[in-house]
Amino acid sequence: MAKIFCVANQKGGVGKTTTTVNLAAGLAQIGQRVLVIDLDPQGNATMGSGIDKRKLELTVYDVLLESASIAEAKARGEKAGYDVLGANRELAGAEVELVELERREKRLKTAIAEAAKDYDFVLIDCPPSLSMLTLNGLCSAHGVVVPMQCEYFALEGLTDLVNTIKQVHANLNPDLQIIGLLRVMFDPRITLQSQVSEQLKGHFGDKVFDTVIPRNVRLAEAPSYGLPGVVFDPASKGAQAFVDFAREMVERIKTM
Ligand code: ADP
Ligand code: MG
Repeated sequence: MAKIFCVANQKGGVGKTTTTVNLAAGLAQIGQRVLVIDLDPQGNATMGSGIDKRKLELTVYDVLLESASIAEAKARGEKAGYDVLGANRELAGAEVELVELERREKRLKTAIAEAAKDYDFVLIDCPPSLSMLTLNGLCSAHGVVVPMQCEYFALEGLTDLVNTIKQVHANLNPDLQIIGLLRVMFDPRITLQSQVSEQLKGHFGDKVFDTVIPRNVRLAEAPSYGLPGVVFDPASKGAQAFVDFAREMVERIKTM
């Protein structure tokens, strides 16, 4: 049965999508069967996996409204090496439409339960908000991976997310836990980043992943080629860090 993880942080531009697609590609390279679910109407994880969001006939939107199953709506990211349940702008409407519906926060969970036997990992790329879409992600998952930059306000920004995760854990999904915090876009030459990195370890202990993802331009260039960095330039420091991270995840779930 698949292990299901949300990649979440309510801030935009912190590296959620980069983490989702590169962890997925890294896991695929080490032989894992992976499904990426794009829960962001921007559709960046879809495009960054080599799937044209404008050409999709079925997306996660149809799955949330229960007019399609994941098996029907998924696409294959051939070069990326994993399946994708894509998203596009249509998904922005789901936020409003779901409010009216029953089991509104559990629709994704129900759909994933049907598909889970086909995968080792399901990775959900969340939008930069604590919205109904993110709530659907959190209700579906065994755990949350939180990418963060080691900047001055990083710890403060975490409080809202940690509180939301606690509430979901208490009321909707007793399985949910923070799997770990992933330090991304890291530049060791910046003293402040090293200091915040140490603070994080002090605060969260072994909830901080050992792997650190460096700032690496190849990771930023890859999406314009419709590829995860891990596939686009496997020799780059960023790609290698994500393959290391994939191995660390495989190890970590053994203890879950
Ligand atoms: P989010 O999904 O949280 O909004 P993204 O993954 O889209 O964040 O990342 C924001 C921007 O930072 C993108 O332009 C992305 O290419 C870039 N980026 C992400 N991680 C790295 C990294 N490790 N090194 C360099 N650029 C990165
Ligand atoms: Mg994103």
